[in-house]
Amino acid sequence: VAPDRVRNFSIIAHIDHGKSTLADQLLIKTDTVENRDMQACLLACPSCALPWMTTQSHALQLPAVSRSLAACEGCLLVVDASQGVEAQTLANVYLALENDLEIIPVLNKIDLPGADPERVKREIEEVIGLDCSHAIMASAKQGLGIEEILEEVVRRVPPPADNRGKPLRALIFDSYYDSYKGVVVQFRVMDGELRRGDLVKFMNTGCEYDITELGVLSPKAVEVDSLYAGEVGYLAASIKQVADARVGDTVTLKKQPAAEALGGYTEAQPMVFCGLFPTDADQYPELREALLKLQLNDAALKFEPEVSSAMGFGFRCGFLGLLHMEIVQERLEREYDLDLITTAPTVVFKAVTTDGTEHIVDCPSKLPPGNRLDSISEPYVRLEVITPKEYVGSIMELAQQRRGEYVDMQYLTETRTTLVYNLPLAEVVTDFFDALKSRSRGYASMEYALTGYRENDLVLLDIKINGEMVEPLAAIVHRDNAYYVGKALVKRLKELIPRQQFKVPIQAAIGARVVASEAIPALRKDVLAKCYGGDISRKKKLLKKQAAGKKRMKSLGKVDVPQEAFMAVLQIN
Ligand code: GDP
Ligand code: MG
Repeated sequence: VAPDRVRNFSIIAHIDHGKSTLADQLLIKTDTVENRDMQACLLACPSCALPWMTTQSHALQLPAVSRSLAACEGCLLVVDASQGVEAQTLANVYLALENDLEIIPVLNKIDLPGADPERVKREIEEVIGLDCSHAIMASAKQGLGIEEILEEVVRRVPPPADNRGKPLRALIFDSYYDSYKGVVVQFRVMDGELRRGDLVKFMNTGCEYDITELGVLSPKAVEVDSLYAGEVGYLAASIKQVADARVGDTVTLKKQPAAEALGGYTEAQPMVFCGLFPTDADQYPELREALLKLQLNDAALKFEPEVSSAMGFGFRCGFLGLLHMEIVQERLEREYDLDLITTAPTVVFKAVTTDGTEHIVDCPSKLPPGNRLDSISEPYVRLEVITPKEYVGSIMELAQQRRGEYVDMQYLTETRTTLVYNLPLAEVVTDFFDALKSRSRGYASMEYALTGYRENDLVLLDIKINGEMVEPLAAIVHRDNAYYVGKALVKRLKELIPRQQFKVPIQAAIGARVVASEAIPALRKDVLAKCYGGDISRKKKLLKKQAAGKKRMKSLGKVDVPQEAFMAVLQIN
C-alpha cells in the first residue's frame, strides 16, 4: 500500500467509555467500504485487549499505552458524553501529546438520555485545552457517527513518513503466546522493510529469530510477503515466551542492523509481591508448572522459590499491581485446580544497613535486623483523583489517613475537582481504590504513577502465635501507626483463627517490645458433642463444613490458621 494511503491511529478513553465497542464498529465499517482508497490501521489501546491492565494497575498500563501511541500518528479521544473527562482520560491525553499525535475528540454514548455533549465539550476544552468545534457526536452502540470518524481520521491524521529506504526498525507494541505459532508479535514498521524469511534481531534483548509468518491483522490474520515503513503487522518466529518479545523492543535485520534502537524500552518491573503456598505440600511441583505456563504469556509475572519455616515450600511472586495478582491467583486456582494460601501483598522496600549496603526487601521478614538498619525507603506515587466536588472533603480525609501529602487541587468545572497527592504505594495497593469508590458513591476516578523512593520512619511489626514468630504475617509499617496496626491486627487474628484445644496467645511486637497482645480461649467442648443423639445427616453436614473450612488452613506449629488471617493486615485502616 502506498504510504500516503495509510492511517495509523489508536483509541484512548477512560475505562467503559466505549473503546472496544467503537473499535468493533470501525472495523465493520472499514471492511464494508467498497472503495478501498484507504487502509486504516486500528491499534486498539492495550487497556481494551488486556483486562488486567485497567482500573487498579494504572501506573503500569502507561508504558504499554505509550508504546501503542508511539506506533501511531493520531488518536481518537473517546469521552462518554454522559460522564465527562476522567482520570485515565487525562493520563492518556498527556501521553498522546508527548507523542505529538493528532487528537480527534469523539463524544460517545450520545444516545443515552443523560448525555450532555455540550457540557462535556466545554469540559474537554477547559481541562485539556483541545478545540472541540469539530468534535464528533457518536454512539458506538447504535453505529452513529462512525463514518464521520473515519472521514475525520483521513482528513486530519497525517500518513506515516516515507522511511522505506532506511535500515529496518519495527516497534513492538504487543505480544501474546499462541500454542501453535509461539509468541505472536505485533509491531509497527517505523523504517525500512521486513519480509517473510528474514533473519531478525530484537535490539534490546539481543535475541535472533527466523520469521516463519508475517501478516496483518484486519482484524483476522492475513499473511503477507512483506511489510513497509508505516505499516502495522504481526510476525511469528517460534519465540518461546512473551518475555523474549517485550513491548517497546525494536526489531531490526541481522544482516543490516539499524544503528540505534527506538526509544522507550522498559522492562516490566513488578511492584507488588506476595507468597503463594500450596495448602497441600504435594501440590508444590504442580504450582511450579502452572506458574511457568502462565509466564509464557505474561512477561510481568516473576517468581522464585521461597521456603518458610511456617509455611513450607512455595513461591515469592511479583506482580504489576493488585489486580494482576488477583487474576494470577484466580487462574492458578480455577484453571490449574490448586489450593493456595496467599500472604498479604507488599511493595518493594529498600533498606540501607549501617555498613552502607542497600538491600531490596520484597518480603517484610527479609528486612535486616533493627540494630543493623540505617534507613528504610518506600516507593511513592503521584495520585490524581477526579471527583464531583461534594466528595472532596471525604477524599482528602482518606488521602491523609493513608499518609498522603497534599500537592494540588483544582476545579475542572463548576462541579468537578481534581485532587493531587503524593502517597506511599503501600497505601494505594491495599484497598485504596475501593475506599475511594465507596466515599464517592462510585463517582471518583483515579490514576497514579510511580515517582521514586522516599526514606520514612518504618518499622517491622512481627506477629507471634502461640509463642512462635509467623513470618508471613509480619508487616513493614510507619512507626506512628505501628501501635494501632499491631492492636487491630491481633484483635482481627483472634476473630479469624478458630479455637484450638488449648489457649493460644497472639502478640504483635517491634523488635523485643510487645505492642499488643490477645489470646484465643481454649475450645470448651467437642464441636460434635452437641450432635450426639441427633440425626446423622446433620453430623455429616457439620463434618463436611469443617472439611471445606480446613481446605484453606495452614498448620502453623500446632495452630490451624485460615487464609483470611494472612490478609487481615489489609483490612486495617
Ligand atoms: P471500554 O472499556 O472503553 O472498552 O468500553 P466498552 O466498549 O467495553 O463499553 C463499556 C460499556 O458501555 C458497554 O456496556 C457498552 O455496551 C457501553 N457502550 C459503549 N458505547 C456505547 C454507546 O454509544 N451508547 C451506550 N448507550 N452504551 C455504550
Ligand atoms: Mg474494552
